[in-house]
Amino acid sequence: MPSSLENLVDSVRSRIDGEIVRNRIFPALIPVVILSSWFVFGEFGVLISATLLPLPFIFSPTGKRATSRRRPSETDGPTGLLLQPAFESRLTLSIKDLTETGRSTACFSVKIDGFARLREIHGDRTTESILRHISTRIRSVLRADDLVGRSGDATFIVALDPIQLFDLETGIQMATRIQNALEEPIPLQMASIYITCSIGFAMSSRLEVPKATSLIQASEMAMSEARRAGSSNIRCYTPDMGRRVVSRRKTEDEAAQSLQREQIQAWYQPQVSTDTGEVTGFEVLARWKHPERGILGPGEFLDVLQQTSQMGRLADFMLRNSLNALRAWDEAGMHVPVVGVNFSGDELRSPTLLEKIQWELDRTDITPDRLAIEILESVIAGPPEDMIVRNVEAISKLGCSIDLDDFGTGHASISSIRRLPIGRLKIDRSFVTNVDRDPDQQRMIAAIVTMAERLGLETLAEGVESQGEHAMLSQLGCNHVQGFGIARPMPFEQTREWMQEHHSKLFPAIEIGQKSL
Ligand code: C2E
Ligand code: CA
Ligand code: CA
Repeated sequence: MPSSLENLVDSVRSRIDGEIVRNRIFPALIPVVILSSWFVFGEFGVLISATLLPLPFIFSPTGKRATSRRRPSETDGPTGLLLQPAFESRLTLSIKDLTETGRSTACFSVKIDGFARLREIHGDRTTESILRHISTRIRSVLRADDLVGRSGDATFIVALDPIQLFDLETGIQMATRIQNALEEPIPLQMASIYITCSIGFAMSSRLEVPKATSLIQASEMAMSEARRAGSSNIRCYTPDMGRRVVSRRKTEDEAAQSLQREQIQAWYQPQVSTDTGEVTGFEVLARWKHPERGILGPGEFLDVLQQTSQMGRLADFMLRNSLNALRAWDEAGMHVPVVGVNFSGDELRSPTLLEKIQWELDRTDITPDRLAIEILESVIAGPPEDMIVRNVEAISKLGCSIDLDDFGTGHASISSIRRLPIGRLKIDRSFVTNVDRDPDQQRMIAAIVTMAERLGLETLAEGVESQGEHAMLSQLGCNHVQGFGIARPMPFEQTREWMQEHHSKLFPAIEIGQKSL
């Protein structure tokens, strides 16, 4: 349906409503009727009409229902759709005799992908207009008796009026129809907007007790599974999904508590020079010491820390730990020039970042040149963000070095690399794997190294797993390497022993534990 027609249908639908006639037009006519009866019957007419006219209106059951149906808390402002509690009570009514009638239904949870970003880019007014388009489109593929509601900022719920035979095929077809309708371009004033949505659905026939709440929850679980698989996906609820979601929620709750419970640890992975083989630094990487599952990588907790706004706290912890480590290595007479700390985009936007770094450096009496800040290439790709540019420039001015992490994956432009005071490119593992055997990989690394040299930048190859890769990277002119082939990340307590061993391999004649380390 063209958009102007959609808008028209939408507004006409909301206006031609019996309740408007009952609740607004009829009361408005009462004074006219009373005046007319005065003309015809005199004072007696006024008395009778004024007494009798409001009675049917007050005592009419329809009037009562209409009043309660119009309670503002039942419907969503921008779309006019039912809010979840009202949707749930209508669904309860609609499915109350499923077992007796042998009918079945399905509930669909529809979530707009990347909605927060959409709001960020287009602002509240345009987003509301997008939401109205979405709700009209959902209704356009449903029948009049099907229920539609809005259950969250970007989530819509649909429940079909029960039918005799609702099987998986019907569910998939219905979900695809909703998805196709929503993913048509949405015309706005200046341009079209393209959205995608993830849909999960649950069939009443698959639930032990097909209650409204459990149908909605099951469709939400299926929708979460669809979202986990990427954007624009459809999933049907299965009981094992429920178990998976419960265990995931438990892990997420635990992950959110991990920092507070002092279960996060700082581990260290060495970086070595391809020239001399000596340690040129360590990267500090976060690990979660789970009480039952053991040591877990950042993939298990980083997202949750981000969602619960704890990235700043993590950065504080990692920074403090790395500077303490440098202090401890210095005191043990071990030579570690630099420690690299990962900073997320959130942290790089913090107005207090510089003071925090300065304060920690002062506390440990470590010179700024021994701290490298690792920034993901994806963070600086795209239009420059004032706060990030300001912080990175200030940190560099302070004397810290800036490493561009995962280089080659984030589409940073050459100009953004020039704009920021970046000192080293950390070439992503995807270019390093098999570099000793794959000529394409060799060409890529050679090109990156040449570009870096011309721009006056150092290079470090990440994810070096074999001797062959190490040797080839050295031959191609890469300055530093880091990876399992040199050492896996390790707790601080193991770094001393590892360095002694590494040093004794490099310089077999020098005795282990000497000051020259
Ligand atoms: P990253 O910064 O690119 O860190 C390097 C990752 O590659 C680490 O994964 C490391 O264990 C892994 N790695 C190193 N050598 C090899 C190798 O030879 N082969 C393979 N397959 N992998 C190798 P990890 O520790 O799982 O960290 C993943 C990502 O999590 C990091 O990627 C970093 O972006 C993020 N991260 C870790 N700690 C922190 C932190 O404290 N703060 C922030 N903001 N991000 C962190
Ligand atoms: Ca890194
Ligand atoms: Ca990296």
